[in-house]
Amino acid sequence: MPSITVVGSVNRDLVLTVEDLPRPGETVLARGFVEGVGGKGANQAVAAARLGSRVRLVARVGADGEPIRRVLAAEGVDLDAVLTAPDAGTGIASVVVDRAGENTIVVNPGANAVLSVEDLPQWLARTPGEVVLVQHEVAAEVVAAAVLRAREQGGTVVLNPAPARPVAAEVLAAVDVLVPNLGELAALLGTAPVTGPAAARELLEGAELPCGAVVVTLGADGALIKQPGRPAVHLPAPAVDAVDTVGAGDTFCGALADALARGADLPAAAARAVRAASLAVTGLGAQSSMPYAAQLDTLP
Ligand code: ADP
Repeated sequence: MPSITVVGSVNRDLVLTVEDLPRPGETVLARGFVEGVGGKGANQAVAAARLGSRVRLVARVGADGEPIRRVLAAEGVDLDAVLTAPDAGTGIASVVVDRAGENTIVVNPGANAVLSVEDLPQWLARTPGEVVLVQHEVAAEVVAAAVLRAREQGGTVVLNPAPARPVAAEVLAAVDVLVPNLGELAALLGTAPVTGPAAARELLEGAELPCGAVVVTLGADGALIKQPGRPAVHLPAPAVDAVDTVGAGDTFCGALADALARGADLPAAAARAVRAASLAVTGLGAQSSMPYAAQLDTLP
């Protein structure tokens, strides 16, 4: 079974739906409320597990994390390296969504901020070629240590630099595949954000990033792959009825890791990730709309 280690965040997502987002000082009544499991680490782990990979998560939850462990265990995610932070609560994302789908989100990192370099298991990539997937919702030194250790152990290192923040050149140099969206790419390059595949291609062709390949996600426009020494390749997304794009990027990263762990080359893996993420936007919620392998395989 293909193996993936995800190092990242776990959150309780508290999602309130409202007519209109409250203005400063205003109180509004919610039309509905749901609580679910979120956080980029947990989301990407679930996305990959649903596609059939054996996924280990390295993370921290709070003493209130038992219900979250149960949800992730039911998804088949290996939780042996998920530690409990005794003095911090599980991270919380308080999400308010209005009738037009516009949202505001406040995140309390909680236990995610307590995850330390010492918490990383000695193994990250147990077998050469194993994929190690990391995002930016844990401390920068934890990301750096995870990336460098995984690389040392012969893993294929995938970094999703979300949310945007600077990455040290020596860390980038140890990344095999960087997966930013357009905003994160512009932030890394210190340029103004661009939109659309043509502008993204121009930005990427001129970019000097010391990492291996770059896969930029472009929302409804799909993704753009840039491998060293080759021109950028655009992978359009299938036209779908997009209902909720929350979790699209996480589905993309999980599906990319799953395909790479199965030995797919980068263009094939990115094409599968585009299809998986595009399916995910046709349903509500982050994890609830992530596809299973059978759904992806039956797409025309
Ligand atoms: P993020 O959510 O991280 O900003 P994107 O918005 O770029 O990421 O979306 C990630 C992927 O999700 C895209 O590469 C694409 O495959 C899929 N996707 C997102 N929005 C749409 C859409 N409206 N229609 C089809 N696919 C979409």
